[in-house]
Formats: sequence, structure tokens, C-alpha cells
Amino acid sequence: MDCETSNLISGSRRTRAKGTTVNPLDVILKPKSIAVVGASRREGSIGREILHQLIEFDFHGKLFPVNPKADFIHSIMAFPTVSAIPDPVDLAIIVVPSGDVLSVVDDCGKKGVKGLVVITAGFSETGEEGKRLEAQLSERVRLYGMRMIGPNCMGVINTAPTVRMDATFAPTLPLTGRIAFMSQSGALGVAILNIARQLDIGFSCFVSLGNKTNVSGNDLLQYWEDDPQTDLILMYLESFGNAKRFMQICRRISKRKPLIVAKSGRTEAGARAATSHTGALAARQGLDVATDALLEQSGVIRVNTVEELFDLALAFSKNPLPRGNRLGILTNAGGPAIMATDTAAGHGLKMAEFSERTRHELRRLLPPEASIHNPVDMTGKSDRSKYEACARILLEDDGIDMLLVVYVPLMLINAMDIILGLEQVRQRFPKPVVAVMMASDTFFMELNRDHPNHMALYIFPESAVNALAALDRYRIWRESPVGELKRFEASSGAAEELIQEVRQQGRRQLTAEESLRLVGYYGIPVAKSVPIATREELERVAKELRYPIVLKAVAPDLVHKMDVGGVLVDVRGPEELLAAAEKMTESVVRHRGEAAAAGGLSFLIQEYVRGGREVIVGITHDSTYGPLVMFGLGGIYVETVKDVVFRVPPLTDLEAHEMIRQIRGYSLLRGVRGEAPVDFAGLAEVLQRFSQLAEDMPQIAEIEINPLLVFPHARDFRAVDARARLREKGEA
Ligand code: ADP
Ligand code: MG
Repeated sequence: MDCETSNLISGSRRTRAKGTTVNPLDVILKPKSIAVVGASRREGSIGREILHQLIEFDFHGKLFPVNPKADFIHSIMAFPTVSAIPDPVDLAIIVVPSGDVLSVVDDCGKKGVKGLVVITAGFSETGEEGKRLEAQLSERVRLYGMRMIGPNCMGVINTAPTVRMDATFAPTLPLTGRIAFMSQSGALGVAILNIARQLDIGFSCFVSLGNKTNVSGNDLLQYWEDDPQTDLILMYLESFGNAKRFMQICRRISKRKPLIVAKSGRTEAGARAATSHTGALAARQGLDVATDALLEQSGVIRVNTVEELFDLALAFSKNPLPRGNRLGILTNAGGPAIMATDTAAGHGLKMAEFSERTRHELRRLLPPEASIHNPVDMTGKSDRSKYEACARILLEDDGIDMLLVVYVPLMLINAMDIILGLEQVRQRFPKPVVAVMMASDTFFMELNRDHPNHMALYIFPESAVNALAALDRYRIWRESPVGELKRFEASSGAAEELIQEVRQQGRRQLTAEESLRLVGYYGIPVAKSVPIATREELERVAKELRYPIVLKAVAPDLVHKMDVGGVLVDVRGPEELLAAAEKMTESVVRHRGEAAAAGGLSFLIQEYVRGGREVIVGITHDSTYGPLVMFGLGGIYVETVKDVVFRVPPLTDLEAHEMIRQIRGYSLLRGVRGEAPVDFAGLAEVLQRFSQLAEDMPQIAEIEINPLLVFPHARDFRAVDARARLREKGEA
């Protein structure tokens, strides 16, 4: 397929002379000769199936079965060892029992084999013994300078005409296409290959990753980044080896080729020992916020089900990207078109408005009872010629960026004809066109058999619209500029000293006053705060203060002050202050016992910050991803409202702005009922400064400002409460 006629979504215009790139993974994915070690005569055995599959798919190179007990296998001459093969061998596919793998690798080393695919299981996935064996295997592979996929994997496929390698034991042969697919689950990978065939989805490459002992998912991503056969990358992942690296690589590739990932498995963001709202919210929100944040920031499209993975793969592999988000719908029945319209609205797609000319032509063509507005309902009598003509009219309209065609089967109208008609039209327009065919299984089977490489088809309107919306979201990502990472001036030395001091006192929890000082060192404006050690001192200073003020209780490990009556705002004078201190002491004692207060109840006097909107800015740690920055609506109801978003630092300016826009309460910050908007640039800077703090100070396990009071001018911003906790030894 040449690049101009294929649905080249990547838009990549990097050209290279053919054959000039040599990638270390070529020995595995573009071998000129393969030894199948453990090839067997026994039907149904993996060793035999892989050999069979390689032959069936017509491997474009030499094949050498290796088996000490057979002269020939599958009518091909067999060799007792790899080193006994007279010709050079690029790749060895190993299916011998786990106890024999190391000696086979040695034999391959002797022969100069550079690529391995180890299908054999029984390594780290089985326990301690297996872990040791895998470590030995890994060391051996490294020593010989080989690259290895697996162990414990289902094999690899490359459909390029110059390779044609299907080294799997999947029961069906793959269709050739422009999708590369990696799967961390072997079984699911094979199942997906089977279903893909039924759905008319073709692959450039498939890799079952197995235990990722040598070749990682990140290695493959980089391989496919420059692979001219690959326009779209699909992943089924259970874990990230190196999450930061994954993010870096994806950020770059996603600007050229779409990446779609189904990620299972949960992380445990901040679940342990969380004393902050940030930690609690991260832990409660399904624990998956870190993965979501990481993928979103990398431009990776995340799907939640395998079904959705297919839905998107179809749309992306068979269509160009849209120019905008205006959707046209063409149908022969009202119901499904209305469902589609609702789904589109939910995704932020716009129903296209038709030009005068479009309406005129539709009116001329369609019966009076038809609707010539979007969605265009041609009525049940519509045949191929109507579908074809109307689709052409809609695609010619510059106000339509993508088209959804719905067909509900009716008597006397042939579904196949309609698809063939649409196929004719859509080839002429560089716009996404997908169709909903509410047709039978036999229809799809016949279509795939007789007319492969057809347009993206869906059974349900919602799936079709979801897929179009994903195309549009990806377009926006592709068009959006890369944000800027900025370093701000900060007194990080003073921050370090403060942390040392707290550690020396044997504490890990910073008081509110210390936490505020810490964020102050990072250039975030803090409400003037004066710590008061005792009641006597309070009596001494009461007369000199400028009222109104705020009084807060301070005690070791008192983190949620309001809960124990430890906050009083808008205190107007000395008498009120002293009475409040009395009451506060009583209340804290009541809640926390005499010991707590005796253990040193002191006070914090703070300037009273009137007005302002309350936001929360926090950092928590995830065991896999490291620090996470949180932003949301703040105040005492933060865990009830749960209006927060997470990101992996460092934050670019664009990401900081995006975080702010993404919370549900964004309109409150923009101002309602005549309120002025808060200073978004100032707020974005606070987030970036916080992100810098997260990166600079890994010894902080959690830190948050809640609330930060924000105003129309950043100079008025005030952090009035903060809490920070230092990391325990060994805490992730
Ligand atoms: P807690 O430990 O319960 O989080 P805070 O110090 O955050 O205690 O105080 C609780 C609430 O009191 C804040 O959400 C804010 O609405 C209000 N508040 C606290 N300090 C001030 C202040 N200096 N000026 C104005 N309002 C304040
Ligand atoms: Mg607070």
C-alpha cells in the first residue's frame, strides 16, 4: 500500500532512504533466517504449531527446525542443535522446557544468533526459583549481546511483505494492515488477533511481551515510532516498567502516530498513611488517577474495555483525522440517529449546520417526508443510489468535518450494496466516514470475505460516535502546541533547612505554620502568620494586634483543625480573642484528650483574608509513578465535593492551565453573577511552582495548601492553611 492512498494518519513526512535504518530489534522483527528450537512433530504441540504458522504465512526467509530427535519436521530438514545449522541464523524461537533454555541460549551464542523469542514459561511468573532462572537468562542474553522478547510469551508477527513472519501459535493468520500491537497478556493478545480478523482489522506487527526481561514496551514503542509500516500503535498493558520514560516516549510519538492503550491493573496512589486530602482523594478515586494523568499528559488515548480498543482501532486505521468537530449524520431511520446525536453532544462534538446549497440539493433529491436537517433522515425507502448521492452532498459541504452513516435493514434493500456505494463516495473525500450497520453476522462475514479493507463499521451508534469523538480528541492533541517548562526562583536551601530541623525533632508531620513557611519559600503568597507558644504570650500580644484576625489551634499531629473546633475566623478584638482561646483549648481537649493539649497546645494567629475563592493544591506520591500534583476546589468540603484533577509533574504552563479548566467548578473560578474571574495566569504559576517543589523535594511524602484563597489579582492570593508530611524511611 503506498503512503498517499493509505489512510496515513501519522501525517509523518520524515523520509529516509529505504533500508538505511538498522535497529537492534530488526534481528527479532525482520529476521532473514529463523531457527525454531523445540520444533516438534507432534500435532497440537506449540513447537509444531509455530513452525506450521511460519510456513502457512509464507515466511520470507530460511527456516530451520531444531530437534535432536528428528531428521525432518513438517517436511523440512531438521538440525540437532542451532550450532549445527550451516547457514547464518538471525532469530531463534525457543519452545524447549524451561530447564533447557539456558543451554539453548549458550548454543545460540556460539552460533552468533542475535535475536531470541522465548515462548517457554516457568520463569519469574512462577516464584522465587523462576525468578533466579530468569535473572540467569537475562544475564546470558546481555553477555552475548542478544535482544530477547519474553520469556513466557506468545510470539511475534511482522506482516511486511519482505518479512511475512507469523511466529505465534494463534489459530488464525493475521490480516496485513498498518497497526502495531503489543500485549502484556499473551492469551488476550492471541484472542485479539482472532477477533481482529473477523473485524477486518489488519496488523503491521504484533508482539506478545511476556515477562519483558530484555525487550520492554518502551523499546518497541521506539521501534514503531520510525517503522514505515506502522501508522497506529495499540497496547494492552498491565504495568509500566519505567513510567517516566514511557511518558517521555509517548509524548513524542503521539504527535506523529496515535497510541491507544487498554491498561488494566490498579495503582495505589497515596493509599498508605495519607494525612492529607490529596492523599485521601487520590486513594479514593479508584486509585487510577495516576495512570489517567500520565496517559492524558502523554497524548495516549486510553480505553477501558477491549471492545473500545477495537472500536477505536477501526476508526483510526481506516480514516484520516477530521479537520474539526462538526458531525453530519445520514440515516434511514430516526431512532439510532437520535441516539447518535445524544452521544455526540456528550462528547462535545457539534452537529454540523448545512450550507444553503446542501439543503437545496437534499430537498431536490429526497421525498417531502424526509428531514433535510442534521441528522438527515432519508426515510426507509432509501436505496444505494440515495445513500451514495446524499453522502456525496454532505461530504462536499465544507461545514461538515466527519460523517456518520446509519443503516437499519429494511426489506428489499441490500446492505452490501449500500456499503459498496458509500465506499465509492468516501474515497474521494479526506474526511472520516464511519457507518452503523445494524445488520446480521452473515452480512459482516460475507462483506469481510468478498470486500476486505472496507470502511469502519459498527453495530451500535454509540460505539461509532465514541470512535469519532476519539479521532477528534486526538486531532486536538496533535494540533495543540507543546507547553513550556519553567523554573522559578525559590529558596530551596531554606526549605531544606526547615525539613532538617523537623527531622531532628523526631517529627514527620509539619505544623500548619511550618508548612506555610515551606510553600512560602517556593514563592507562593502566604497569609501573615504568627506562632504563639502559650496562653500567657497570647495575653501579652492580644492588645498589639491589628484586628480582625484568625485564631488557630496548633498541636503535634493536629492536621484537621476545624474538626476539633480549632479554627476561629474574624476575631474582632482582644477580649474576643482570649475568650476564643479558652474555648478552643476546651474543645481540643474534649476531642483529643488532656494529653494532646498538655503535649503542647499552642496557637497560630493569622491575618484574616476576606473573600476569595478557595482552591486546593496538593502533592501526593504514587508507588509506581512518583509525585502527583492535585488541583481542585478547596476548603473544608473538599473531600465531599471531590472536584479535583491530578497530573504528573513537571507541569508545563499549558498543562497547568488545562488542570484548572478541567475541574467541574471551573465556572466558579471564572466568576458567576457578575464576579470577576480569578487570575488564571497567577494560579497556573502557583501550580507550576508546586510542581517544582514536588520535583525538588522527594523527601516530602505529601504536601497541600488548603485553602489557597484566590482573587482577580495574583498579588492578593493567600495560602491560609497547609500541611506537609515527610517520608518515612523506605516509604515509596
Ligand atoms: P483545617 O485544619 O480544618 O483545614 P483551616 O486553617 O483550613 O483549618 O481553616 C478552615 C477554614 O477556615 C478554611 O477552609 C477557610 O475557609 C477558613 N480560614 C482559615 N484561615 C483563614 C484566614 N486566614 N482568612 C480567612 N479564612 C480563613
Ligand atoms: Mg485547611
